[in-house]
Amino acid sequence: MNFHIITLFPTAFDSYLNESIISRAIEDKKIKVGFYNPRDYSDDKWKRVDQKPYAGGPGMVIQALPTIKAIEKAILKIKRNKKAKVKIIFFSPGGKEFNTEYAKKTAKKYTDIIFVCGRYEGIDARVKKVFKMEDVSIGNYVLTGGELPAMIVLDCVSRQVEGVLGNFNSLEETRVSSRDCYTRPEVFEYKGKKYRVPKVLLSGNHKEIENWKLKSK
Ligand code: SAH
Repeated sequence: MNFHIITLFPTAFDSYLNESIISRAIEDKKIKVGFYNPRDYSDDKWKRVDQKPYAGGPGMVIQALPTIKAIEKAILKIKRNKKAKVKIIFFSPGGKEFNTEYAKKTAKKYTDIIFVCGRYEGIDARVKKVFKMEDVSIGNYVLTGGELPAMIVLDCVSRQVEGVLGNFNSLEETRVSSRDCYTRPEVFEYKGKKYRVPKVLLSGNHKEIENWKLKSK
């Protein structure tokens, strides 16, 4: 799975992509992440890409053309692989709400995903007239930019890619998992009180354990 991220702030991704499972997935070439900065495609002397909105309003708007050129660059790269299947996601708080089901379908169907991350008031809507893309929201709240949404979707789609989770059975969606989990020690004491692992989990009775997990969901 190849991720292509259109963002004014590519370094915002560094710390997350360099840790744990995602970092290993990149190292093992299970996933690939590339960045395209609209600023690099600006004709402005100062590489400025934000302008005041038409009809007024407080925030700035990211211009269409530098964004279009950045997306075009990503598409050109993707098209080098004749078999590539591309999806373009345009992050917007008003878009279709993202969930695990969406991640699963996307991981199955596509080889390349382009994420278009907005900032400020958003990106000039004419970009959506040039490319076919889907408006996606990660939840009913407004953030300052599309970078966190891109990381969330990247993370969730990546764990659907075979080989990314050490053991494919780790996928919670394909087995009975519970909200609560426990590890050693069996009992610990904190401020005079003892905290124990639920007995059923130590019982070795798989049927009862499954039932407990279903109940604690
Ligand atoms: N004026 C816009 C909000 C802009 S927020 C509106 O009213 O819809 C700035 C950018 O952050 C957006 O362009 C989008 O890319 C991103 N963003 C903010 N919240 C988001 C969310 N919940 N899901 C996906 N993207 C979001």
